[in-house]
Amino acid sequence: VRGAEPDYLDGLNPEQRAAVEATEGPVLVLAGAGTGKTRVLTTRLAHILATGKARPWELLVVTFTNKAAREMRERITAIIGPQAEGLRWLGTFHSIAAQILRRHAELVGLKSNYTILDTDDQERLLKQVLEAENVDAKRWPPKALAGLIDHWKNRGWTPDRLPASENAQFANGRGQALYRLYQERLRILNACDFGDLLLHNLTIFTSSPDVLAEYHDRFRYLLVDEYQDTNVAQYLWLRLLAQKRQNVCCVGDDDQSIYGWRGAEVDNILRFERDFPGAKVIRLERNYRSTSHILAAASGLIASNKSRLGKTLWTEAEGGEKVIVRGVWDGEAESRLIADEIERAKKAGRRYRDMAILVRASFQMRAFEDRFILLQIPYVVIGGPRFFERAEIRDAVAYLRLIYSPDDDLAFERIVNTPKRGIGETTVQKLLQVARVNGVSGSTAAREIVRTDELAARTRTSLSNFLRDLDRWRAEAGRLHHARLMETVLEESGYTDALRLDRSPQAQTRLENLKELVGAMSQYETLEAFLEHVALVLDLDRESGDDRVQIMTLHQAKGLEFPLVFLPGWEEGVFPSQRSIDETGEKGLEEERRLAYVGLTRAREEARVSFAANRQVYGRWTSQMPSRFVDELPLANVEASSETGYYGGGPGMQQHGSRWDESPSFGAGYSSPGWRRAQASNYKGSHPGRQQVIEGEGRLVAVSEPAASAYSRGDRVFHVKFGYGQVTAIEGNKLTVNFEKAGEKKVIDSFVEKA
Ligand code: ATP
Ligand code: MG
Repeated sequence: VRGAEPDYLDGLNPEQRAAVEATEGPVLVLAGAGTGKTRVLTTRLAHILATGKARPWELLVVTFTNKAAREMRERITAIIGPQAEGLRWLGTFHSIAAQILRRHAELVGLKSNYTILDTDDQERLLKQVLEAENVDAKRWPPKALAGLIDHWKNRGWTPDRLPASENAQFANGRGQALYRLYQERLRILNACDFGDLLLHNLTIFTSSPDVLAEYHDRFRYLLVDEYQDTNVAQYLWLRLLAQKRQNVCCVGDDDQSIYGWRGAEVDNILRFERDFPGAKVIRLERNYRSTSHILAAASGLIASNKSRLGKTLWTEAEGGEKVIVRGVWDGEAESRLIADEIERAKKAGRRYRDMAILVRASFQMRAFEDRFILLQIPYVVIGGPRFFERAEIRDAVAYLRLIYSPDDDLAFERIVNTPKRGIGETTVQKLLQVARVNGVSGSTAAREIVRTDELAARTRTSLSNFLRDLDRWRAEAGRLHHARLMETVLEESGYTDALRLDRSPQAQTRLENLKELVGAMSQYETLEAFLEHVALVLDLDRESGDDRVQIMTLHQAKGLEFPLVFLPGWEEGVFPSQRSIDETGEKGLEEERRLAYVGLTRAREEARVSFAANRQVYGRWTSQMPSRFVDELPLANVEASSETGYYGGGPGMQQHGSRWDESPSFGAGYSSPGWRRAQASNYKGSHPGRQQVIEGEGRLVAVSEPAASAYSRGDRVFHVKFGYGQVTAIEGNKLTVNFEKAGEKKVIDSFVEKA
């Protein structure tokens, strides 16, 4: 028999243990990645239950995703057994807020069977509101208003509380009025949108003290994971609920705050101490997840951020592999390299599921998926459909199918009104009925029907225009390369325009995916070959069990860990994203850097960063520059691999202390002579061959004294991105060039050639 010491406390370090046992009063655990924050939270929960301080339904436990909630429930079950089933209030902010709203819906004018609108419905409703108010939906798109309203709701602003400055954001000062009308419409429909869940909770709690008191009685203890990513509305909600008993424990890491774009506020961490006076702040410094090189690399990288609370991290897992950084020729070479390594690791005994590929943006997934399908490596895309299953990709492919086979009715039905061109559901049904009756295809029926008066004049015009477009594309299909054709179709159909007007992050992602699609298409000889590939991919048997390589975005990887992590695409414009470089300034870049930190710290044993020198963007080759984050990795913890044929680069910038401020930066360290030669000889302005691999020197060259340049002042040079120009200054391998079109830029000499 053990003493009073329960099993679950075994192995906790003193700080963790303090965080578990300090059940009464406010506690903030502020600590770096892998220090056991989630473990502390789970153990604390078990401890509260095991010591009888509360029953399962008296605990409010907030996790960031539903997956995290499931995992936590499993871990608790392992500790305390079936009692864990009683944890009714364990979930995400949204799922818990939805439960609460069901019970008090009438207090905000809804019925308990209210529906939660998806973004499509939400947009349709906003469109109606805009129409009714005679707001020009072309200038002021419903999607933009949806984004704004979401932003307002995340900040806890009801229409009444909207600051005047926000009102001006839409339709010349009508933002507030439209917001109010939208909320009224929602109420009439007995519906709410996602953002309303918390906002209605806030309204209920503040307007009905007795209801709030009921929850004060119910929730004896509050536990919150990933606290750094809470937005203002979520913070206010927590504060209200914790007000009376103050038994609230939040765990988080300011360095992992990656949802600023969705309204999360790191400031909530600072507010905690102010709003909960006497809060116990516990710091955990020992990392249990990663080996020392990985941890040091991640810590070194995040040190470049200025706005951070700062912390130390250490690990006992000394040694291990350094973080491997590789430069490769292009995106295909990158997927080949990683797929090969996965196969090798598998042969050496690793399970597929212990390996993860973490990408910055979903368009990067395509190359890996294609490669895995070819090599029959089982994989799963976490948190989203696989590339060719995405709605925008299916739409684009449907256009091609219809161009290629005019009788493809499924394709016809899918895109006849996508993007919206005023051919409604009734018209489509009518068309298909005519088609069935006459035994012809939908498009044939359409051709018939536009010659009649069956349709309203406007619909008829739209439909004939659409048919005319199709004919034109078909005619062009013979002349244009199919990737160009795809591009033309997406432009001329209005598909990309519709996405461009839409300012939501999802629209951005869709545009990127479409670009990737066009890029991928150019690898197929013919359109038929491409369509066949897509059909095969979609037909793949997905049931390959649980042992699969995991592909996901960095955002989705939060809180998870894997023995082997691949981090591809560390290039300026990919990661950090172009948007963060162009639009959000230093603040956005710091968020990207935190994302890089999240990525690296997911790795337990091995982390492998890669970047490509070339990528196809919309089917055109563009030269890429290594991410500034590559340069920021501490040299001592990084190793360039020497896979035959791949150049391995390494950081060198820190020694110089210089940063390229002009257009995206090159890593000055990535300039071994072999690399430069390879680059120069391949940049003849033509497409580099896909299968081509650089015969670089394959080793790390940390350039402390840049090699002398082969250029002189006054040389006329050509740069693939900036065109022709004249060299005005030389500093090692960096040239200042006065470009005829682009003006003065700093470039790396390996990316120009003498003209
Ligand atoms: P993140 O910031 O990434 O969410 P975290 O701080 O929540 O990380 P956990 O996921 O709780 O960290 O823990 C990281 C790993 O370390 C897990 O595998 C966990 O089981 C292990 N771990 C945590 N504390 C200990 C401990 N005291 N002894 C042994 N292993 C531990
Ligand atoms: Mg965690």
